[in-house]
Amino acid sequence: RIAIRNLYKIFGNAPDRALDLLKSGETKETVLARTGQVVGLCDVSISVPVGSIYMIMGLSGSGKSTLARCINRLIEPDAGTITIDGEPVTGTSEARLREIRRTRVSMVFQHFALLPNRTVIENAEFGLKLRGVGAGERRRKALEVLDVVGLSAWANHLPKALSGGMRQRVGLARALATEADVLIMDEAFSALDPLIRSEMQDELLRLQRTLKKTILFITHDFQEALKLGSRVAIMADGMVMREGTPQEIVLDPRHPYVAAFTRDID
Ligand code: ATP
Ligand code: MG
Repeated sequence: RIAIRNLYKIFGNAPDRALDLLKSGETKETVLARTGQVVGLCDVSISVPVGSIYMIMGLSGSGKSTLARCINRLIEPDAGTITIDGEPVTGTSEARLREIRRTRVSMVFQHFALLPNRTVIENAEFGLKLRGVGAGERRRKALEVLDVVGLSAWANHLPKALSGGMRQRVGLARALATEADVLIMDEAFSALDPLIRSEMQDELLRLQRTLKKTILFITHDFQEALKLGSRVAIMADGMVMREGTPQEIVLDPRHPYVAAFTRDID
């Protein structure tokens, strides 16, 4: 389980005053007007069950990527705690942080972030290289995950020989190779055309069932949230406006902002 408690992130050089204002109930806009500090996250608390797919939704700028990046500490939160299976991610040493990134949390990005001059297999093993895994072990693991995502035959091709969906599979393979039990997917399917996107969604569900990954999945698409998510958090202005199962949110959005996300559902 990933447990996030009262997480705050301020972008700016004077977070303390901004934090005080937020804790006294001021809004993101007021904080920006009065301090010039940008609120990334404000008092976010969520709990992601082990082995589930947890969806994060919200308009552009609502704090989704900031939240995702705090979990592997690409971004340092200003207040609050994050634990994975009870183990703190916040307030740990550099060495411990490397260990967490190696074994616990992996990220898949929207635009694949593949190295254009490296082959598919080199791309798949790149995360392991960054984590200091030896060459033989990297190769073995990379072949294994390319098989999982159905790309073994493409191991020695360059990314430019692949379609968008196949490239995204390489991105997924790279994240799977690390064997991290938490996968964070930040709009990982957003750049894919509808058909390939649907195939990737099925692929992800299959992977989640077989590999028992805990997946935090950011999307703008409520249909995707319905199909994949066991729970959904809808964010606005750095805060979680509504949290629950997709069904609960459709039946009782409680807020016009939340309702707007569910509107195009039959
Ligand atoms: P999108 O859907 O466009 O990806 P998002 O929900 O992922 O949006 P974030 O990228 O988390 O939004 O941004 C949340 C807020 O934090 C925004 O107001 C943004 O301007 C601000 N922000 C994010 N990263 C930085 C940064 N590195 N420096 C300053 N402000 C930032
Ligand atoms: Mg984002």
